[in-house]
Amino acid sequence: MSSAKTGGAEIRVRLAPSPSGYLHVGTARMAIANYLFARHYGGKFLLRIEDTDAERSDAALLEPILSALQWVGTPWDEEIVYQSRRIALYNEYAGKILESRYGYRCFCSPERLQVDREKARADKKPLQYDRRCLNLTPGEIDSRIKAGDKFAIRLKIPDGQTRFTDMVSGEVSRRNEDLEDFVIARSDGTATYNLAVVVDDHDMGITHVIRGNDHITNTFKQIHLYHALGFAAPEFGHLPMILRPDKRKVSKRLGDKDVAQYRHEGILPEAMFNYLCLLGWSPKTDREIYTSAELIEIFDANNFNPSNAIFDEEKLVAFNREHMVMKSDHELATLAAPFLVDAGLTTKYWLETRWDYLRAVVRLLRERARRISDFASLGGYFFSFGYRYDAQAAVKQFTAESAEWLGELAARFESLKEFTHDGVEATLSEMAEEKGLKKAQLIHPTRLAVSGVPVGPSLFEMLVVLTQPVVVERMRRAAEYIRKQQSE
Ligand code: GLU
Repeated sequence: MSSAKTGGAEIRVRLAPSPSGYLHVGTARMAIANYLFARHYGGKFLLRIEDTDAERSDAALLEPILSALQWVGTPWDEEIVYQSRRIALYNEYAGKILESRYGYRCFCSPERLQVDREKARADKKPLQYDRRCLNLTPGEIDSRIKAGDKFAIRLKIPDGQTRFTDMVSGEVSRRNEDLEDFVIARSDGTATYNLAVVVDDHDMGITHVIRGNDHITNTFKQIHLYHALGFAAPEFGHLPMILRPDKRKVSKRLGDKDVAQYRHEGILPEAMFNYLCLLGWSPKTDREIYTSAELIEIFDANNFNPSNAIFDEEKLVAFNREHMVMKSDHELATLAAPFLVDAGLTTKYWLETRWDYLRAVVRLLRERARRISDFASLGGYFFSFGYRYDAQAAVKQFTAESAEWLGELAARFESLKEFTHDGVEATLSEMAEEKGLKKAQLIHPTRLAVSGVPVGPSLFEMLVVLTQPVVVERMRRAAEYIRKQQSE
């Protein structure tokens, strides 16, 4: 990356969400790209809230965004900047543009503009302002102001082409006739989005604007505002949109989940960070799994991928599994605990007093778990007796004979002085041998009896973790259940 534009000064980037009540995966990805850029190049990552829209200024719509940004691991530097507190500043700059030769008053009424737009649509012409007010004489302007006519302020776009070098896709240009003389301040005096963004980015010392390529038209317009205000424009980089596997744009409207939803489904923030970083950015090797610290280290602004990125939830879950593998039993236990409590399987207090038990459960289940929530869905039987026996497995395993075997094996287990892996295994093997049974004929019904499901971790390890009294009780209960079923 060239630091030509920053002149060696500190790099400053920002995320500028509007308070929408949720953090969209696309916005999270933008946060990650900006955050990595700042951290790698030793700069600052700032947060600006674009809350000038009255309906969007509710603090309750902001909090979920801030907490999701914290969660995903992109903490921001410095104070948050709120656009709603800076309206006077925008007005001041709108006034400056009007005084300069770059801005002009537009007295066209919304009704008139609407008629023009409809006509343009009917004629299949571009929907553009026809510059009707560009050349009003000072006298005409004075008399309209005196008459109390309301006016907006428009920026006069010069003839020619606008170009810039995008950090992601290289040279881009647009014909100025396609940009139109856009409004920078409305007739009620409020600044429009593009003016506010330019004033803020300048005022915040932003050196690189990294945002979605849905903003590219805004960038062309903003370049003219920088020029009109006499500000040096920052560098721009536009990241491609995130698409769903069916190639449609990821959006809340299409039912896609926000970041907090993935959190509630047991995705780790490290996995989300890693996955979203690699959507549209390449480490240029085959390796995919990285910690945030590694990504900060290897980040390179030259490696953005200009083509659209596909958000594939299966892949995110695969990343999640890899990040779970990197965690210790203790870390996973800490992460799993709230999921177990939320699922109603246990309480916080119970877990706090039986931490070794939770850690042992995690050690048994971690190989099968792909999400943190899986500890609750796969391991409910470690915390509660209230499971049902898997119906299909019960038909196969819970035969009249197995009720006898379970009863007898329970008695043998009960008489063990120590309930160890090897002791339990030897007890089961001995009984199988004495009765002329295959070990599997005892293993399967026992597993079903103590867990309700036909698959799970190694049986002997699982029995030891469950503890002797629990195992014995569950086996007896299953034997009784089978007898009851048989006699019906
Ligand atoms: N509020 C805009 C958005 O969320 C920010 C665009 C920008 O980064 O300038 O898309």
